[in-house]
Amino acid sequence: MKKWTRPGFITFQEPTKLLRGAIMKDEFYMQMAIDLSKKAVENGNEPFGAVLVKDDKVVFTNENQIYTRHDPTFHAEMGLIRRFVEETGISDLHGYTLYSSCEPCFMCSGAMVWVNLGRLVYGAGNDDLEKILGNDGISTTKAVFENSFRSPKVKGGVLREESLEVLKSYFSNHNKG
Ligand SMILES: [Zn+2]
Repeated sequence: MKKWTRPGFITFQEPTKLLRGAIMKDEFYMQMAIDLSKKAVENGNEPFGAVLVKDDKVVFTNENQIYTRHDPTFHAEMGLIRRFVEETGISDLHGYTLYSSCEPCFMCSGAMVWVNLGRLVYGAGNDDLEKILGNDGISTTKAVFENSFRSPKVKGGVLREESLEVLKSYFSNHNKG
């Protein structure tokens, strides 16, 4: 089985037996996004990962790289969208599902509007993250999508506990960048 650690293009298909079995698709891809969030920390960045899926195939992955790229906007989702559209020339993602280890921020949610993303699945909510940071939080995706001219379908809270563990573990020792 592929080790889902290198961001970028995935050129092969994941094992379909797994997808037909007990593991549900959303949980399967969310686990990949969470694994990428752990990898981001190992690489010196913040704990966020994103996976782009089309027709049950992973087509692109990315992890947070704000520190190593010296770019505070290089979030997992924003970086994925930028790199994917640039490298493929595909700028309409209505047939795609993006899995994000944590609810996307305002900026990344806005980017999802502009590329016409079809579906978003996330783990812990932005309010979960803000609570860890000692703040009141709101649902960033709701705030953006409910006030936009179009929006993806949204499913939150997939593998929320696993997602929260990674966030808690990191932000108990680090400030938010
Ligand atoms: Zn973001």
